[in-house]
Amino acid sequence: MRLAADEVARTFPRARAVVVSDARVARLYGRSFTTALTRRGLSALLLPFPSGERAKTRETKARLEDRLVARGVGRDAIVLALGGGVTGDLAGFLAATWHRGVPVVSLPTTLLAMVDAALGGKTAVDLPAGKNLVGAFHHPVALFADLDVLRTLSPRTFRGGLAEAVKTAVALDAPLFRKLESGVAPIVSRDPRTVGGVVARCLVLKGALVASDPRDTGRRAILNLGHTVAHAVEAASDYRVGHGDAVAIGLVAELRLACRLTGFPRQAADRVEALLSAFGLPIRAPRALDPARLLQAARRDKKTRSGVVRCVLPEALGRMPDRSDPSVSVDPVRDLLPLLRQN
Ligand code: NAD
Repeated sequence: MRLAADEVARTFPRARAVVVSDARVARLYGRSFTTALTRRGLSALLLPFPSGERAKTRETKARLEDRLVARGVGRDAIVLALGGGVTGDLAGFLAATWHRGVPVVSLPTTLLAMVDAALGGKTAVDLPAGKNLVGAFHHPVALFADLDVLRTLSPRTFRGGLAEAVKTAVALDAPLFRKLESGVAPIVSRDPRTVGGVVARCLVLKGALVASDPRDTGRRAILNLGHTVAHAVEAASDYRVGHGDAVAIGLVAELRLACRLTGFPRQAADRVEALLSAFGLPIRAPRALDPARLLQAARRDKKTRSGVVRCVLPEALGRMPDRSDPSVSVDPVRDLLPLLRQN
């Protein structure tokens, strides 16, 4: 975190630094990071909020805003989003609207946030009616990923990030896929050098997509690979299946569909399954999931248009169809239901 503190103090010497972290990250890293900023001459304030997806709400955002008012923070604020994807989404949205927009710096502390959520400018809170329903595009001015903080992640949260890294490799980069295959042991033991290589490559790949499609209206949909089924599995399990596990299940199911629809090689699909298993991720949906609920959830997916489910399916490892809209229509009953039942 020292490098991040140096850079923030150098780049924004007169700003009011507002460090936003969930309670757990605030305890582990937030206090020392805020102190490091103060030592570098910055006026810094730590704003913790309760951990977990349940806190990613309008109410939490309003409470944080009230605290900014109480502390006399104005347009001179710079928001430092120190935490996982929940913190990034919430703090990013706070920065997007505070005094009509102040800069935000991404300081991701989960693997999922490092390889995916912290870059791309999508910020949001959840409503009772659904996830991420209110938000804004607000790109970070900088991103610092300190790999040492991954040591304290729970196994479930760490492997969730691995599922997103595998997704990125399958969608965009066969060499990254091979790197993941050959690095299973050091990656699982969280060796900072190996994991750092994976994080850096994912950021380069996502960065290029985001630069070409900053508001996610076209080709960036590639990153939704596996997510149509994943969201259905999460919703049908009442979110008992975590996001990373659901992405692994979704990847396997959607690649099976790709074998049929785009000629994705069966042998490559087998390699993806083997890699996900080696990372300790599930590859089959729990048997108890009700197919009817899965179907209903898939139909409600944000990519669904007039009842037709949309999926992005690769043609080969690291290769997506070369079209501005890479998604294809899938008939939920004919294509998706048998696939989900197989699971
Ligand atoms: P999270 O932010 O809730 O973090 C998971 C848990 O890990 C939390 O309990 C947190 O306190 C803890 N934690 C974080 N860093 C830690 C560390 N270094 N050591 C120990 N514990 C730590 O969840 P997440 O999985 O990082 O992110 C999920 C969220 O990201 C969802 O809300 C999802 O919608 C969002 N997301 C956003 C984008 C985007 O582009 N904006 C992309 C993907 C996901």
